[in-house]
Amino acid sequence: MSGRTPLMAANWKMHFTVDEAVALVEELNRGITRFDDREVVVAPPFTALAEVASALADSPIRLAGQNCHWESQGAYTGEISPPMLRHLGCDYVIVGHSERRQYFGETDESVNRKILALLEVDLGSIFCIGETLEERQAGKTLDVLAKQLRGGLEGLDEEQAGKLVLAYEPVWAIGTGHTASPEQAQEAHAFVRDNLAKRFNNAVANHMRILYGGSVKPDNVDELMAQPDIDGALVGGASLKAASFTRIVDFEE
Ligand code: PEP
Repeated sequence: MSGRTPLMAANWKMHFTVDEAVALVEELNRGITRFDDREVVVAPPFTALAEVASALADSPIRLAGQNCHWESQGAYTGEISPPMLRHLGCDYVIVGHSERRQYFGETDESVNRKILALLEVDLGSIFCIGETLEERQAGKTLDVLAKQLRGGLEGLDEEQAGKLVLAYEPVWAIGTGHTASPEQAQEAHAFVRDNLAKRFNNAVANHMRILYGGSVKPDNVDELMAQPDIDGALVGGASLKAASFTRIVDFEE
């Protein structure tokens, strides 16, 4: 027993109007049966956060933002700050998702600034790392993960690190239907945990939840969650339908 509470997170990306988002979260609230021994998080688009927060007022489902700026306010047109997300009732923010790195110029440095800014307002990050297909084929997976961890966690102390959640998301598996095998995922997760133990200490490493993301579906979640270092899932496509995300949350041990 790892003692880590599994965390199952839905990343809705740029999907759903406010009404659609509220309808989906209400369906999840009715359908999920395993709230006692696992944590469930949804990350709606910014426009739906306030209404989804109201719909979740009496629910154990927790709320996450999909991104943020590192400044708390200022002349940054189109950006959203950590305090704004805090006030909306978020507990987490996804940081460094590969789509942000790939399409919007997110770097290890900007990821680090965001993680530190979120900690300032007591918000946890779901900090995403992962290699591209070329990097994997070139045998560089573990080097890439080490570099992203080093850059993203620069300047954090042990207490701050204890508030984070990590997500290993191989870029080649996101939205492609190609899931990492349980062995590939376990190898990466064990490497990440070992890296955290060296960078911080064993207590931080053993406490840290490391989620797997990349085409998690109802038919592969059980074998992924059976791996000793996989502590949850960050789910894109399969989180857009209540039935499939409910089955993912209710994974069988
Ligand atoms: C993601 O976007 O974090 C993700 C893992 O997407 P998908 O489940 O669709 O691969």
